[in-house]
Amino acid sequence: MRKMRRKGLASMAVQTVATSTDTPSVDLGPAAALSCRECGHRVPLGPVFACEECFGPLEIAYDFSGYDTEELRKRIEAGPANIWRYAPLLPVPADVAGKPNLNPGWTKLVQADHLAAELGVDAGRLFVKDDSGNPTHSFKDRVVAQALEAARAFGFTTLSCSSTGNLAGAVGAAAARAGLRSCVFIPHDLEQGKVVMAAIYGGELVGIEGNYDDVNRFCSELIGDPAGEGWGFVNVNLRPYYAEGSKTLAYEICEQLGWRLPDQIVVPIASGSQLTKVDKGLRELIALGLVEDKPYKIFGAQAEGCSPVSTAFKAGHDVVRPQKPDTIAKSLAIGNPADGPYVLDIARRTGGAVEDVTDAQIVDAIKLLARTEGIFAETAGGVTVGVTKKLIEAGVLDPAKTTVVLNTGDGLKTLDAVAGTGLTATIRPTLDSFREAGLAS
Ligand SMILES: *Cc1c(COP(=O)(O)O)cnc(C)c1O
Ligand SMILES: [Zn+2]
Repeated sequence: MRKMRRKGLASMAVQTVATSTDTPSVDLGPAAALSCRECGHRVPLGPVFACEECFGPLEIAYDFSGYDTEELRKRIEAGPANIWRYAPLLPVPADVAGKPNLNPGWTKLVQADHLAAELGVDAGRLFVKDDSGNPTHSFKDRVVAQALEAARAFGFTTLSCSSTGNLAGAVGAAAARAGLRSCVFIPHDLEQGKVVMAAIYGGELVGIEGNYDDVNRFCSELIGDPAGEGWGFVNVNLRPYYAEGSKTLAYEICEQLGWRLPDQIVVPIASGSQLTKVDKGLRELIALGLVEDKPYKIFGAQAEGCSPVSTAFKAGHDVVRPQKPDTIAKSLAIGNPADGPYVLDIARRTGGAVEDVTDAQIVDAIKLLARTEGIFAETAGGVTVGVTKKLIEAGVLDPAKTTVVLNTGDGLKTLDAVAGTGLTATIRPTLDSFREAGLAS
């Protein structure tokens, strides 16, 4: 990292590769190298994220060649009830389970028969993967856990990120547990629940006057500056490692379905990273022989007020035109999604779709999920449930097929979205008053 100071992002990637001989060698289990998603160029594992040849995004390439399918399945099943049961498939050291971290994952896969009945889905066919059960109540603990291991391996002493809210909390908590400094950046106008969640772990929390895309741009500048030296930005210079955490959603869903692929899966889109890695996870399980090789469809879900990917999908475009976000689904409010084009590829390749719902539909969907299944989702969960409903009504999602809908965060984080939900009645503490209110059985 020493030689990268004062360099821009692209030159940072080049610089690190050029000096890779003095990059300390790191052992991240089965992770073999970083590989460019555009041109396939490979470089050694390091804190880089852009290809030196074409500036395409780098991702982890693995060597799984030594694995025997049945041995691997047994090893996973005997593993801890968290994401580290899949350590043989992640860019982490072999002894990762013993290091202080938040041990996220292995969240519930809820068979949602009441919701299925309301949506016209066959009984036993609809499931909600409820990631509100993670340590900081969103799916972000999965990705941060991977980035933390990379930060340790590369010797970073400060953990940082640009965040739409949930990531800031996940980074703050992970750093606290690991004994690292954290300093995270969010748009200044986030929901109070998310601000408190991000601040409570004792790290530094900085509000930026601007939207997420402004925050992200600022962080990119900070990485190239001495002011950010020794900082691991989980979703920027550690992004290739971070992103792999989303594969664990796919692994868990299949294992919880009895090592079966779902037919259809509905995933929220912010940057699009999660959706692309859910697909990668499913393809790996097929390649490893852990699930049967059969088709599956991936559906992406956005809020209408920040729908650059669904707009491109519906228009048949390959490029994603940035938008200025304006939606209550703030955790998904990324107007210029880095993985947007890859999401389009995956939706089209698998026969899925990308759809969006209005803020009013998001609120209705939050209430629908709570009322039918006892799951209180944050706005992102309202987006996936709302999009699922819309796609079933449009005949795009098949109600006879096994469908998994992701809920990626807890409703307590976005209470404002359902403000006005409250008392049925206020009565005097008497039976007469109770009867007058029309509540007697
Ligand atoms: C971050 C986030 C997502 C997805 O983010 P990607 O950038 O698309 O990976 C989904 N739901 C919630 C609640 C999030 O915080
Ligand atoms: Zn490349």
